[in-house]
Amino acid sequence: MGLGMGRVFVAGSINMDVVATADRHPKVGETVAGEAVLYFPGGKGANQAVASAKQGVPTTLIGRLGTDAFGRELRSFLAAQGVDLSFVKDTDGTHSGTAIITLANADNTIVVVPGANGLVDADDVAAPVLAKGDVAVSQFEIPLPTIAAFFRRARAAGATTILNPAPAKPADKALLDLVDVLILNETELSLLTGTELRDSDDPLRFAEAARTLGRGKTVCVTLGKRGVLALVADQPLLVPGREVKAVDTTGAGDCFVGALAAQLAIGKPLGDALAYANIAASICVQRMGAAPSMPTAQEVEDTLS
Ligand code: ATP
Repeated sequence: MGLGMGRVFVAGSINMDVVATADRHPKVGETVAGEAVLYFPGGKGANQAVASAKQGVPTTLIGRLGTDAFGRELRSFLAAQGVDLSFVKDTDGTHSGTAIITLANADNTIVVVPGANGLVDADDVAAPVLAKGDVAVSQFEIPLPTIAAFFRRARAAGATTILNPAPAKPADKALLDLVDVLILNETELSLLTGTELRDSDDPLRFAEAARTLGRGKTVCVTLGKRGVLALVADQPLLVPGREVKAVDTTGAGDCFVGALAAQLAIGKPLGDALAYANIAASICVQRMGAAPSMPTAQEVEDTLS
């Protein structure tokens, strides 16, 4: 699969998620005894790169780690998933991106400290040489000017650009104009378009809002268990969600983005790529975790047949 075809380049964040479980959250100034500490590799860039690499498509991650124990752990995890890390730099004087999560009674509190992710710069994204047919992917967990520099180079090389503007924050039109495929959920669509949207809204409302993001752009609005609404050449296309028993939806959006990027890199038409990514994400939600729950190409194909 993917022989002689395009590659996927993901410029994005790499985090260690540190989860402490307890039977209740502490109040401000209070200490409570917890139950367990769990470590999960994460960060949207890393998750999307894993989702793409597991499709058997050559996938390069561009990013930064600190020179700490989490950095070494994350590097070895990502290498084992088949992600090319030649363009992930170890950076002195900072720490690897870290999310500190407390989990009690299914409610969580999260503090994310970007550390090295905040230092990914235009020189970092200029290092790999992209070519026609490649796919360049990014999200909003590295500096926005770095993403713009990455997409300008990708476009000049004839690559396709995919932006997943998550977590939601305002972006200027100049950045959005560098995007070929925008993949976002309803919260991000609401923020970018200034439209109030709820996940129960008619999908055609999402299409109307997506249309305001620029004609000619492909916009994919992921709708959780309802699937995905895409605006392709200004025409709405609804790919219904698959009925599955979801146990943990963490990373579903990242799985969708990585699988779609991999499909486009091997030259699949957009409609087929959307259907494939919808299946990949529906497999991801049936397992715990984010990066570890990304399906392989074989698992998606077994579901397709
Ligand atoms: P997250 O932030 O948790 O990664 P997201 O809000 O970015 O999620 P969603 O829209 O929740 O992304 O999900 C992405 C895709 O995953 C959906 O478009 C769909 O293909 C699939 N998906 C999510 N939840 C379910 C579900 N319960 N059943 C089947 N498919 C699902």
